[in-house]
Amino acid sequence: MFIKDAIAFGVKLLTNAGVKEAHIDASVLLSYLLKKPPAYFIAHSDEHLSFEVLKKYDTLLERRKKREPIAYLVSEKEFYGRKFYVNESVLIPRPDTETLVEAVLNAYPKDAAITFLDLCAGSGIIGITLLTELLNSKGTIADISKSALAVAENNLSSFKVFSRAVVVESDLFKNITGVFDLITVNPPYIPTQDLKNLEPDVFDFEPAIALDGGADGLDFYREIVKTAPDFLKPNGAIYMELGYDEADAVKQLMADGNFVDIQTYKDLAGIERVISGVRK
Ligand code: GLN
Repeated sequence: MFIKDAIAFGVKLLTNAGVKEAHIDASVLLSYLLKKPPAYFIAHSDEHLSFEVLKKYDTLLERRKKREPIAYLVSEKEFYGRKFYVNESVLIPRPDTETLVEAVLNAYPKDAAITFLDLCAGSGIIGITLLTELLNSKGTIADISKSALAVAENNLSSFKVFSRAVVVESDLFKNITGVFDLITVNPPYIPTQDLKNLEPDVFDFEPAIALDGGADGLDFYREIVKTAPDFLKPNGAIYMELGYDEADAVKQLMADGNFVDIQTYKDLAGIERVISGVRK
């Protein structure tokens, strides 16, 4: 079978299964197996594929047909221009979270020698991007899940920033010590009853522990807003990602708590996606 036939076969199989971006998905899977960029296929559509590759391609297509996310199938996802290792222990990085990283990077000079705490770190995309962009920073990468932290450790090593990081298994602030200039967090924020309405790609495969924000989605914000001031230096700042309609509620929580200079930041869709505040 030639590359063009394999792609056509994959597109048909996935389209029939109701997968939306069948062409992209089929190309990405084949590109992963051949270790070539999808653009390669344009000039090499008549290249012959080995039986071995076709067998693996078939297995991946079958998994994608059942809506397993591409990022898990190829064990990586790009975030802020870098490729991170991911597996089913962590939420797949979303472009929304780049809004948080950008807001933080706009607030500190490149050489800022800050210490930060990245809570609910998952694969570590926020903390590791900050360590990579702010070369004098030091970060504590924390998560409740041991298997998520193993993913974060893998990424800390591959981006060569492990020497400036501490990894802590912690239910929010429970095992955290010290005070920080900055706290970042993308907490679980989907209201429990909305979880079942998520795409099967998300609901069936991504860790519910990373998504479920309790009855109104705000459980983690309540706890974090209450406790974070104890872990911030005077004038220390917190940046949190928000669910699409949670900005007003979280603004109120922060204003009622120990925070001033509360600001929100919009994502590319114009939704208030990130909130920051400074410890009083
Ligand atoms: N942005 C994710 C989603 O909508 C949720 C992330 C989270 O709960 N922190 O699927």
